[in-house]
Amino acid sequence: MSSYDVAVIGSGPGGYVAAIRCAQLGMKTAIIEKYSTLGGTCLNVGCIPSKALLDSSHHYEDAFKHFETHGIEIDGPIKVNLEKMISRKQDVVDMTTKGIQFLMDKNKIEVFEGLGSFKDATHINIAKNDGTTATIEAKNIIIATGSKPSTLPFITLDKERVITSTEALSLKEIPKHMIIIGGGVIGLELGQVYKRLGAEVTVVEYLDRIIPTMDAGLSKELMKTLKKQKVKFALSHKVKSVERNGDEVIVKADNKKGEEVTFTGDYCLVAVGRNAYTEGLNLDAAGVKTEERGKIAVNGHLQTNVPNIYAIGDVIKGAMLAHKAEEEGTLVAEVLAGQKPHINYNLIPGVVYTWPEVAAVGKTEEELKEAGIAYKVGQFPMRALGRARASMDVDGFVKILADAKTDEVLGVHMIGARCADLITEAVTAMEFRASAEDIARMSHAHPTYAEAVKEAALAATEDRALHI
Ligand code: FAD
Ligand code: NAD
Repeated sequence: MSSYDVAVIGSGPGGYVAAIRCAQLGMKTAIIEKYSTLGGTCLNVGCIPSKALLDSSHHYEDAFKHFETHGIEIDGPIKVNLEKMISRKQDVVDMTTKGIQFLMDKNKIEVFEGLGSFKDATHINIAKNDGTTATIEAKNIIIATGSKPSTLPFITLDKERVITSTEALSLKEIPKHMIIIGGGVIGLELGQVYKRLGAEVTVVEYLDRIIPTMDAGLSKELMKTLKKQKVKFALSHKVKSVERNGDEVIVKADNKKGEEVTFTGDYCLVAVGRNAYTEGLNLDAAGVKTEERGKIAVNGHLQTNVPNIYAIGDVIKGAMLAHKAEEEGTLVAEVLAGQKPHINYNLIPGVVYTWPEVAAVGKTEEELKEAGIAYKVGQFPMRALGRARASMDVDGFVKILADAKTDEVLGVHMIGARCADLITEAVTAMEFRASAEDIARMSHAHPTYAEAVKEAALAATEDRALHI
């Protein structure tokens, strides 16, 4: 039987990063993945393919909506070849997942393809995909089995017309009318893809705003811009049934007044969140405990109730984000090596890759109010930037929340072009506990979208933004 210092179950961004860091720190490491490609949800059916389709559909929208204004004339119709678009997306996925295999080889990490399940706290049975089985031994085990889409009890996901994000990334036709249940990240990113490609899109959301966990200002601005792009919204609607009738999908919901509203489309994307995935792991054999919603319970070192077993990423509490899982993978490897790593969970940024992009870090206004912390607000609109006008991406703003007394930056919330990249400045500043004035006094290249960060900081400092 092969023995390892560490065995990682699951090869998503949590698992493969944990494995690399363990190997870097000199541990003999194995990784077990039930699918034939590495990279987990993120690389196969999550972050990477969704961004590939967002980019392709963005190019298409630019071509037919904006090229003419830029003085670019196309002789003949502009058409979408969905099959080619999906196939390009798959090429990007294949290239990226092969890259993880390369990294495993480079770091001498043994890869086992098959379903891993606990035999006991130090042994894992692997049911290989060719029907054979193997057992390995490991001093330490890291569970990184991720999550799966959740649904509503009355919905039958037929995966043809009533679908999850996984199927929505590989559709064979452009829907005529896609009804999306859930105005969260998946619903809005994939909704925008199909809206750009010509589908009618209706988002049915239970709460009274979209992206409900983000700052309310961002929800409002994103909804305003998506409405301009003709995405329809039904907020405060409680979905109660989803039925398929041939090629038609009928969604019924109760609105705020309790009246029944019917939506009829040809596809229904169910995007109401994701659940921790531990099926088949046989946690009981190792004695590993779970907590609410089936998540694996861990302490501050991400150690489960069984001392040599750790868990990271979507399968434990906290934001379901690839970069959060990666930080946790690194943390556990370093804990195992006897180091004292730390993750500042308050500074894990959240991004929605719609266009305009939405990005945030730190506390929202709602959270500061609830905590009774006095704060100042500095806000600057993208449209006041020369760069924004040059590229015609004028929607959005940057908002900086700073402590009323100390001026320390407590939260940064932005919506606009390239905000997914801009937010890193805020993370860096906040990691060093910068004040709004610190950011305001830093030189920001002109003309860039980053100037909105400086201007918002100036506005927060002494209400002295320069260009408004
Ligand atoms: P996963 O990536 O889910 O990996 C878990 C792996 O474990 C899987 O490969 C699974 O097959 C394997 N596994 C499970 N059980 C076993 C077993 N018993 N034996 C062997 N293998 C097993 N996050 C972002 O930060 N940015 C984004 O832009 C983004 N976009 C997304 C878009 C979509 C459509 C979706 C669905 C998600 C997106 N996410 C995004 C979320 C992100 O994908 C997850 O947070 C991330 O993948 C979690 O990583 P993980 O390592 O915990 O688990
Ligand atoms: P989400 O939690 O972002 O959004 C789910 C939405 O569905 C919420 O707005 C919620 O109020 C709504 N909802 C819940 N029950 C409902 C009901 N019965 N009727 C109508 N609406 C209902 O979840 P998601 O969009 O499914 O994404 C899942 C996870 O994947 C998220 O945790 C997210 O972090 C991750 N993800 C991240 C990115 C990114 O970082 N850009 C992209 C995609 C997914």
